Amino acid sequence: MDFLRYAERAATMVNAPLEDEDDLRALLADRPWLAERVSAADVRTLRRLRRDLRPVFAEDPEAGDGADRVVERLNDLLARHPVSPFISGHGGQGLHLHVAERRSSVAETLAAEGLMGLAIVVCDLGPDRLGECQADRCGQVFVDTSPNRSRRYCSDRCSSRANVAAFRARRRAATAP
Ligand SMILES: [Zn+2]
Ligand SMILES: [Zn+2]
Repeated sequence: MDFLRYAERAATMVNAPLEDEDDLRALLADRPWLAERVSAADVRTLRRLRRDLRPVFAEDPEAGDGADRVVERLNDLLARHPVSPFISGHGGQGLHLHVAERRSSVAETLAAEGLMGLAIVVCDLGPDRLGECQADRCGQVFVDTSPNRSRRYCSDRCSSRANVAAFRARRRAATAP
């Protein structure tokens, strides 16, 4: 498994619209073998999962016991969404680990992949790698893969929006009577 990609997919699932089966199929556009099995039950399960996942990203590991809470929340979710690992060598890719069986539902597969991906990011890279955009009224979450753990925004757009807002605030402060 490519744990970083699975963790990033989990972030994308938290951010993307997920009202119905079409939204879930859109999320799986690059994985047609999953997209074609999507059901209404998968959408319900994943909507609950992403509601529970958001605070994992929004927690500030630098503040108080924030890092402990990230771990606690992920452990809770791992207990609720069991992982069934197996080794596969399909498609001539060489042996690699899958975290959900072929007969698992789409929701079970995405939950297992996402949670394992996030768990490995937290263990290998640190709980401060999971973040939420700091721009006003954005709320998108991300996995910080920057070399110096400095990511604060979900996108260049939010970053420049925040810079402009900070500049205006400074100018207002400077010209205030
Ligand atoms: Zn595979
Ligand atoms: Zn943003």
